Amino acid sequence: MTSFVTHLEGAIDGTILPADRIQTLHKDRPLWVRYDLAAVGRALTKEMLRDRPATMWRYRELLPVPFESQPVSLGEGQTPLLTCSRLAARYGLKDLWIKDESHLPTGSFKSRGLTMAITMAHHFGVRRVALPSAGNAGGAAAAYAARAGMEAYVFMPQDTPVVNIYECAQAGAKTFLVNGLITDCGRIVREGKQRLDWFDLSTLKEPYRIEGKKTMGLELAEQFEWDLPDVILYPTGGGTGLIGMWKAFQELATLGWLQGKTPKFPRMVSVQSTGCAPIATAFAAGSRFAEPFANAATIASGIRVPAAVGDFMILDAVRESGGTALTVEEARIREWMRLVASSEGIAICPETAACIGALEQLSSSGWIRPEERVVVFNTGAAQKYVEALACELPKLDITQPIDWDWLSEA
Ligand SMILES: *Cc1c(COP(=O)(O)O)cnc(C)c1O
Repeated sequence: MTSFVTHLEGAIDGTILPADRIQTLHKDRPLWVRYDLAAVGRALTKEMLRDRPATMWRYRELLPVPFESQPVSLGEGQTPLLTCSRLAARYGLKDLWIKDESHLPTGSFKSRGLTMAITMAHHFGVRRVALPSAGNAGGAAAAYAARAGMEAYVFMPQDTPVVNIYECAQAGAKTFLVNGLITDCGRIVREGKQRLDWFDLSTLKEPYRIEGKKTMGLELAEQFEWDLPDVILYPTGGGTGLIGMWKAFQELATLGWLQGKTPKFPRMVSVQSTGCAPIATAFAAGSRFAEPFANAATIASGIRVPAAVGDFMILDAVRESGGTALTVEEARIREWMRLVASSEGIAICPETAACIGALEQLSSSGWIRPEERVVVFNTGAAQKYVEALACELPKLDITQPIDWDWLSEA
């Protein structure tokens, strides 16, 4: 055996597919990677993890990469789990944490998914990849493709944050600006597959990105000594992070690693902006599938996903967990970014700022109770969003004497 993967499974109908070859979608819907968890449990114990390096590859037995293959890695270290007492007090909470994924290579948690997707594509002999991206996925794909010596094509809406555009070009990806939405970019990738023979790395269109994102859940569980928090707030675009974490928790429960006879699972909160809220809308309507969201517009580019192929997987996880899906006011995103940076020193991305809006709503409504343990994921670095950080500042004229009174008031 070269990994503990047994097979892939169609998420829509449970159809079993072999894992020893390239797979994409089944019935136009994503695949789950399934493991022999009993065998994992015999090969790996929680105690063994303690002696391993603090990277996402410490969970190797729960990951799909064959043991004889080297991961295509940029050093995906364990991310900090930070207490936020000042922010907690503001919302009447006692036990609030931010898991800061901005420390990862390329400045966002997209690296967890793309190191895995590129590693597996590389393992299967893929030489050229393509994806649509309106944000951090493009940069991460470009970087890992460069690392693997692969060719990458990235198609981005022309209003993508500039840093994301530059990082793709800088990493040598063939980067195109498209006068349309991410869905239009997705169509180009789909149509080009036959002509240019590239592998489609779009969110959830290959099975392994979820497995990379799953490590967020494994890591969180380990950092909290296998006692999961009560609530997780997660900004939702394509949903790989939320889906991946929920899968991680189920696998840990099957392994018997979680504390308590009947382990407590977090209530998963899927957060979107009023500017793009297909999942929150479907949740409110009680549907399992989401309608495409018209005229999607938000500065939180990572959650500007008007239609997600894994919509039902997100909604199933949220409902199974007893969680909720909600929207926050687009116009207040910058305010929440500033609030967290100035009160806690953590430079959160606009997507995570939306989660702070959700924290405000859910704590004041009593849905989150004061003593509950709450975790917000900072999915990316604020520094990548120069457009959202822009502000007017007072100017100092060095040809004039300094007016100290003015300065102290400014
Ligand atoms: C992609 C992205 C998201 C959305 O993540 P999904 O797991 O695809 O829902 C959130 N925040 C940032 C910074 C992102 O880049």
